[in-house]
Amino acid sequence: MELAEFRAGLDGWLDAHGAELAPAEGDTTLADDMTHLATVKRLTYDAGWMRYGWPERVEGLGGSPLLRAYLGEALTLRGFVEPGIYSMAEVLVPTMLDFAPPELAAEMVPRLLRGDETWCQGFSEPGTGSNLGSLACRAVRDGDGWRVTGQKVWTSLAQFAQRCVLLTRTGTVESTHRGITALFVDMDSPGITVRPIRAMHGADEFCETFFDDVFVPVDRTLGAEGQGWAVAMDLLPYERSTALWHRAAFLQRRLGDLVATAAADSLDPDDVGAAVELLYAFRARSRATQYRLDGGDKLGPETSVDKVLVATADQTIFDLALDGVAAGITTGDDTVSAEWRRDFLYSRAATIYGGTAEIQRNILARRVLDLGAEA
Ligand SMILES: Cc1cc2nc3c(=O)[nH]c(=O)nc-3n(C[C@H](O)[C@H](O)[C@H](O)COP(=O)(O)OP(=O)(O)OC[C@H]3O[C@@H](n4cnc5c(N)ncnc54)[C@H](O)[C@@H]3O)c2cc1C
Repeated sequence: MELAEFRAGLDGWLDAHGAELAPAEGDTTLADDMTHLATVKRLTYDAGWMRYGWPERVEGLGGSPLLRAYLGEALTLRGFVEPGIYSMAEVLVPTMLDFAPPELAAEMVPRLLRGDETWCQGFSEPGTGSNLGSLACRAVRDGDGWRVTGQKVWTSLAQFAQRCVLLTRTGTVESTHRGITALFVDMDSPGITVRPIRAMHGADEFCETFFDDVFVPVDRTLGAEGQGWAVAMDLLPYERSTALWHRAAFLQRRLGDLVATAAADSLDPDDVGAAVELLYAFRARSRATQYRLDGGDKLGPETSVDKVLVATADQTIFDLALDGVAAGITTGDDTVSAEWRRDFLYSRAATIYGGTAEIQRNILARRVLDLGAEA
């Protein structure tokens, strides 16, 4: 199906099904949001929309990735989904398609797309974030599987997840990125403990995740033993670019809300203009990235440009909110709406998740501009 036909069909369908797709009014918990997301995924999957842009070998209906980008944009703009939790498929599925044994991808990917399951990404550890190559969570071969022992942290949605894309160390620590293996782990395996962490915006979005001698069958290895760094390098460009297209749709909606409020009179028009410019700089860049993907290009370190742009737009827009509707956010003023407070505080994470702003700039300096190694 072509994009124009998809858009027209989807828009009409969304208009007709708005009542079923809209979340409950008022404050909701993350658990409520997860339940609602599953409903939206199921409805859009059963109607076919969620299956476009994914290959037939995972029960997709084929077509360009532009189709699934538009689906996420349309659902986010209408407020039917929250982009962070919706985008997990954009982060994890492309890598499953590239590295999972084909029968595993065929069995699992439809479950995620249909909303039957949630997956999480176990990369960061207490001593390993920016320097991912030094990760320590260990996997040791045992018969027809692996035994995993170690800890992950900041694992988004782990408390809801049925599966985890997990990076483990299978070589020596000195082997850094060459000794890493990626596994696809069932989260109900004996030996896994998940402890949610309350983030400052009020939700338990991420978790500490402990692995104590957890058995993972060898056919759950993503790629070959020792190929985990290649898996991570395949995944991170999606997390830093296409997965954030939906975040920009959310930012567009919230900027519109801000300008529509009575307090908007207090906003400096130049500041509003600057925020719009930054948002559209990201959209232009991200659109080009989506079209490159559509054309068959492989995404790589250049996607750090996308991440820098969207994080900058994100924080600029909510800084503007701080000047306008929500001046009391940081002083705990309880006249500030919970929604603005939550969104402002969450925007602070934009320069951390998916790799910090400094790390994106390091990648651009070293791997894109070839300005030399870090001193
Ligand atoms: C909302 C949110 C969700 C997340 N979800 C997940 C998830 O689902 N799965 C997952 O695995 N991780 C997740 N993360 C973790 C995220 O990937 C890490 O926080 C991030 O990579 C930074 O690592 P760190 O926290 O260990 O900070 P560190 O690496 O310790 O960095 C601390 C500071 O030092 C700076 N710094 C470090 N090294 C350099 C350098 N070489 N040059 C210049 N500056 C440097 C950093 O920029 C940063 O400011 C999430 C984080 C957030 C905020």
